[in-house]
Amino acid sequence: MDIKELDKEYIAGTYGRAPLVAVSGKGAKVLDEDGKEYIDLGSGIAVNSFGVCDDEWVAAVEAQLHQLQHLSNLYYTQPQVKLAQALCERTGMKRVFFANSGAEANECAIKCARKYSHDKYGDGRSTIITLINSFHGRTMATLSATGQDSFHVHFAPFLEGFKNAPANDFDAIKALCGEDVCAVMLELVQGEGGVLPLEKEYVQAVAELCAQRDILLIIDEVQTGNGRTGSLYAYMQYDIMPDIVSTAKGLAGGLPMGACLMGEKLKDTLSAGTHGSTFGGNPICAAGALSIISRLDEKLMEQVRAKSAYIFSELEGAKGVKSVTGLGLMLGISCERPAKEIAAECLEQGVIVLTAKDRVRLLPPLNITQEDLEKAIMILKGVIGK
Ligand SMILES: *Cc1c(COP(=O)(O)O)cnc(C)c1O
Repeated sequence: MDIKELDKEYIAGTYGRAPLVAVSGKGAKVLDEDGKEYIDLGSGIAVNSFGVCDDEWVAAVEAQLHQLQHLSNLYYTQPQVKLAQALCERTGMKRVFFANSGAEANECAIKCARKYSHDKYGDGRSTIITLINSFHGRTMATLSATGQDSFHVHFAPFLEGFKNAPANDFDAIKALCGEDVCAVMLELVQGEGGVLPLEKEYVQAVAELCAQRDILLIIDEVQTGNGRTGSLYAYMQYDIMPDIVSTAKGLAGGLPMGACLMGEKLKDTLSAGTHGSTFGGNPICAAGALSIISRLDEKLMEQVRAKSAYIFSELEGAKGVKSVTGLGLMLGISCERPAKEIAAECLEQGVIVLTAKDRVRLLPPLNITQEDLEKAIMILKGVIGK
């Protein structure tokens, strides 16, 4: 039996997979089982920050594999601590909790925000405001936080204490920020919601309101983080200082790792026994992440912004394109044709693109060569304009 049939027989049916059996690759190139080559503009959903099997990343991960793969958080391990130090030094945040996914990083953010408020104000101040059309994960708590009804069918009852406000409407979120609220949680670019950036003035006004009322500002950078939007973290382009930043996807360059970064106010909120993870901060993943983070410098960020500008200039106003949105190399394209059809035809023509809602979504490796990018965008343009 072939892999697709075996998958159908043995794998839980949670994914509507595209017909590509990936076996290997290098950089922005992926090969399928027949040796057909694809240019990858998806990076495994913003995970393979430097593409497939990047040499420097492989060397860093391999070196750690020969030293120690795991000993649990009952003991100290070196890569985890060095990574936390690097993240704090580069962001101004004060403490890091390591998890294994975006949802888990957000679970930590939620627990941390509630504990901070409970320690200081007692019961009754546990509500977290999130936005309509947001996406924060698939666990029960992060699903409860997610402001999209389509994810909610089948799974009631949800965790209490979440309210949703419409994006870019300051009066609406202000009206919800009552005595019961401990935190506001935002994606600065709504990824799964269609690659929609929030307005800068709105975000700054929310940050100011939060600061005035000791409401914690949680920025979900699971997708926008780690260089994806053209700065180390997207919040840096909004000129705000969050209390909590959660991240995951691109952090370890293809290995499962999430992180919850906590600012000055939350330095001592999580004490021994209040949270934990068996795998969190695993040495292999941490070594991979250290390699990635050390390479996200200003020179690379400039290249990310330049490639972003190139994609905007190629696609805005092109035949069949209604609009292009996004930040850095996290882009959404609204097209006259259905996004799913475009993605399927691109795949046939050797280009991997993703979708988000009714949009084509691009998340290429941060270091994709200009040559690969141009080739892929020409094919995409042809498919969109067909
Ligand atoms: C992908 C994503 C998550 C969930 O991450 P997982 O690693 O799949 O648990 C949470 N928030 C945002 C903004 C995401 O894009």
